[in-house]
Parts: sequence; C-alpha cells; structure tokens
Amino acid sequence: MFDNLSDKLDKAFHILKGHGKITEVNVAETLKEVRRALLDADVNFKIAKDFTNTVKEKALGQDVLTTLQPGQLLVKLVKDELTELMGGDVAGINLSGNPTVILMSGLQGSGKTTFSGKLANYLLTKKNKKPLLVACDIYRPAAIQQLYVVGDSIGVEVYSEPENKNPVEIAQNAIKHAKAKGFDVVIVDTAGRLAVDTEMMNEISRVHKAIQPQETLFVVDAMTGQDAVNTAKAFNDILNFDGVILTKLDGDTRGGAALSIKTVVNKPIKFVGTGEKMEAIDVFYPVRMAERILG
Ligand code: GDP
Repeated sequence: MFDNLSDKLDKAFHILKGHGKITEVNVAETLKEVRRALLDADVNFKIAKDFTNTVKEKALGQDVLTTLQPGQLLVKLVKDELTELMGGDVAGINLSGNPTVILMSGLQGSGKTTFSGKLANYLLTKKNKKPLLVACDIYRPAAIQQLYVVGDSIGVEVYSEPENKNPVEIAQNAIKHAKAKGFDVVIVDTAGRLAVDTEMMNEISRVHKAIQPQETLFVVDAMTGQDAVNTAKAFNDILNFDGVILTKLDGDTRGGAALSIKTVVNKPIKFVGTGEKMEAIDVFYPVRMAERILG
C-alpha cells in the first residue's frame, strides 16, 4: 500500500542524512522532494504545495536547524501533517438510530455492494448488531442477485422488491420491515452509474431525503486517484455525506485519493476496503496510515 510514496519520502529524507551540518538549503531541498513525492502519488498540486509550505513554516518555527536531530524532527512534522491531511482523528460511525439507517452511495464498480456486505458483517460480528441489507438497484437484476450472494455468505437477511421500480418506496418499506422484525441497522445499497449523471443524482437525492439516514457513506475506488476526488465532490454537493469509504486499497494505488479527499470535501474517511473477501474491511486510522507511509 502506497509503497512508491513511502520509497520516495524515504529518499527525500536521505538528503538530510547525507549532510554533517544541516542548512536551510538542505531542508528546502528535502521538502521539494517531499512535494514531488506527493505529486507522484497523484495528490492535487495545491494540496501538495500547501502541505510543504505548512511543514516548512513549522520547521522554521521550531528552529529545526538547531535541534539535535533535525532530520528526525522533520520526519515527525511530515508525519503529523500527513495525519492531518488524512483527517486527523479516527472518525466513528453513528449507530444512534432505531433502527440506524445507512445509505451507500457511489459509482457503479466502486465496491458499494461488496462494502455493504463487509459493513453488515462488521456490525454483526464486531458490534453485536442485527443488520438488514436492502437492494435498491432497480436497473440491474444482477446487482440484486449479487447482494443476495453477499448476504448469504455472511448470514445477513436481504430485503428486495424485484417488481418495484421505485427505490424510495423500497427503502421506506425496508425500514418498516426492519422495525417490525427487530433489525437495528438498515444498510441501503443504491444503484450506481459508470459516471456522475443527473438522473442518478436525482434518484439518490430523493432516497436520501425520504429516509433521512443517520449515515450517508460515499464509496470510492482508491485506484482512481484524482477522479475519485472529483466524484467525491459531485456526490458531496448533492448529499452532504457523512464519510468516505475508500475501497481497493490492496491494489496498486498511489495514494492520491486517500491524501486529497479530506481537504476537498472536508469529510473523514471512515473505513477502507482491502480485498474482495467479507473480512477485508478496516476502520481508517489516519495516524497509523501516516506511520505506515513513512515506514
Ligand atoms: P458496485 O458496483 O459499486 O456495487 O461494486 P461491487 O461491490 O460490485 O465491486 C466491484 C468489483 O470490485 C467486484 O469485483 C469486487 O469484488 C471488487 N472489490 C470491491 N471492493 C474491493 C476491495 O477492497 N479490494 C479489491 N481488490 N476488490 C474489491
């Protein structure tokens, strides 16, 4: 995960290690390499520039050159800033509803259905909840079928109305069903499209207004880099979602989405998907991720 970025940052800090006495020029050179590493990881230009400027200001403020181990201090400043960039504190999930309604949004192929299953499994096995999965994709029968396969594999009930073409009604009926049958979390999987379009946005917006979820989560494929960030912005403008789910972090992603999304939409990354299996879900800890990136 983010191996290339880790390597490049490691090399950037080597600049400092090669010098007996560290000068302002060495620090500037190191930070230039840090910025290059971020740009290579597909971090947006302005974010990368602001990042190194902030680190530089802090380094000067803390008199980095006169400390005993300036290299180490600079690594720490970069680590702290990476943590901030990814959201700072860990963001929890709001399970206060009765039942709690969680709406999943995102493009087709982002990993929404898979993640709905992972989240249901996580809530069932780790949080002692009784989740219900709801199939609200009215366009692709295969999508409903896929949710049944997922539900079966984890022993979670799936609610669907294959003949009903109104996702608002399906979601509302599912919540009634959940109340009647004692489910405490309702996870609504919605239809995605290959790209952002008005019809999809209108539909999910209608579902959102009708069911007033405690959590609206936006699912995005981390491998899509800056596109992921742009899609996040489009969905956030319509839904004002509560959190981001970054999927496919096990793939060969450069890290740009993880490092830029918080700044652009000001919403935390709540979970990450790290594989196709139902267990491949992790709570996102910005500080641990920053530590991992810096090796
Ligand atoms: P949806 O169209 O948004 O519902 O996306 P799906 O849940 O069908 O996922 C699309 C593809 O991505 C499927 O082949 C999934 O197995 C795969 N996938 C989903 N999440 C992950 C992940 O975290 N890692 C990997 N490697 N594959 C994933």
